[in-house]
Amino acid sequence: MTINTRCLNCKTDSKLTAKKCLKCGRKLTPKNRRYMAIVKLSNGRRVSKMVDNLELARSVKSKLKTRAVEEDVFQIRKSPTLETAWPQYLAWAENKKKSGRTVNVYGMFTSFPVLMGG
Ligand SMILES: [Zn+2]
Repeated sequence: MTINTRCLNCKTDSKLTAKKCLKCGRKLTPKNRRYMAIVKLSNGRRVSKMVDNLELARSVKSKLKTRAVEEDVFQIRKSPTLETAWPQYLAWAENKKKSGRTVNVYGMFTSFPVLMGG
């Protein structure tokens, strides 16, 4: 977890403690810098949010961290993988089939011989 500072002149990130931009050398004043809160999630992904001032950056950083921990604990906001979605889809499709409605996957299979000239 870090907070970086971004030079608005050249969009280069520097350490929070930097007094001037590493790239363009411009002095980093509250008016020409922004703060970037960066949090690393347990899945290795990094989330960042740029804000106007350091207090906000600290607040955002702790919120991002809280959310990252919540995601770990409650397993929320994880995008489904095919591995987990496919059995669910099959169960759903099986249900639809039983209810007598046409479902794409079965429709595909039944029209297949037609396409092949069978
Ligand atoms: Zn710069």
